Amino acid sequence: MEFINNLLDGDFMPHGHCLLWRTDLLILHVGGDTLTFIAYMLIPVALVRLVKARDDLRFDWMFLLFAGFIFFCGATHILGIINVWHGYYYIHGIIKSMTGIISMLTAISLWYLLPEAISLPSKRIMSAKIVELMRAEQKLADANQHLEAEVQKRTAQLEKMATTDELTALLNRRETMRLLELEIARAERQGSVLSIMMLDLDDFKAVNDNHGHQAGDRALISAAESFKQLLRKTDFIGRVGGEEFLVILPDTDINNACELAERVRQALQQHTTDNPSIPACTTSIGVAECSAGDNLHSLIQRADETLYRAKSNGRNCVCLATS
Ligand code: GH3
Ligand code: MG
Ligand code: MG
Repeated sequence: MEFINNLLDGDFMPHGHCLLWRTDLLILHVGGDTLTFIAYMLIPVALVRLVKARDDLRFDWMFLLFAGFIFFCGATHILGIINVWHGYYYIHGIIKSMTGIISMLTAISLWYLLPEAISLPSKRIMSAKIVELMRAEQKLADANQHLEAEVQKRTAQLEKMATTDELTALLNRRETMRLLELEIARAERQGSVLSIMMLDLDDFKAVNDNHGHQAGDRALISAAESFKQLLRKTDFIGRVGGEEFLVILPDTDINNACELAERVRQALQQHTTDNPSIPACTTSIGVAECSAGDNLHSLIQRADETLYRAKSNGRNCVCLATS
């Protein structure tokens, strides 16, 4: 209580010494205050510029609070200088109080912010995370690439399956017909010749009956191989029925097709003679040439009729269609 009474009575007032009237102390204080004042005015400007320039700055309001706090600190220092010559103690006191308030605000905010600021991931952690992410991304890209390759492989397999005969690996019926349709259109468009051969293995039922179905299958595979060997790269051969085959011969007239058919017929006979493990079998062949106005059905029908004639003629022979 005595202390508070002293304070209010004015007894507490300090003596009025002004830097002890010493020049060295004056220079020391005024010099220090001037430098501090200049620095404290420059720092807020820098902080404000930083906040304005970086929109990704976290806790930017804290930087502004710092700017304000430092500005007021600067103001107290300049008043410290002025007060050496003039007694603006009220203004100085007010500014000091304001500095105190903003300092307290800054200190409280800083402590309040501290846990969150500490928990921010460091640059090192961020870099490690980025590396981790890039690795994961690379792994994903690799997996994707692998998957794409797998899809391509499977698609190719499916495409092959959809167009290939399982037993003989020749074209299947659907693909053979599709290609024949295309070749007929091409021959018509280009005015080129096109012939087809319809082959049917002779007495194949008997082959199965005498040697068993599996031996029959082997004979079919072997016949397909023997046929394929005599064809050009531009020719097509498909299995269009149980023991029936269709050969498409682009740019081939009926005479050349007939010659080839004869060679094919002989080759099969020779092939089964040379390979005693395969049941002997022969083939009848009907050859037809595509003529103007022919379509898939008319051309196949003519080849079929010719084949039937070859069968009637005693099998294991070649017959050619009359257009
Ligand atoms: P043809 O000389 O008049 O053609 O007589 P064929 O016995 O060959 O004619 P048919 O049409 O009566 O018989 C065809 C036989 O072909 C009957 C069938 O069992 C056989 N066959 C059809 N597909 C297959 C197959 O995939 N494997 C086997 N092993 N036999 C088949
Ligand atoms: Mg047959
Ligand atoms: Mg048949």
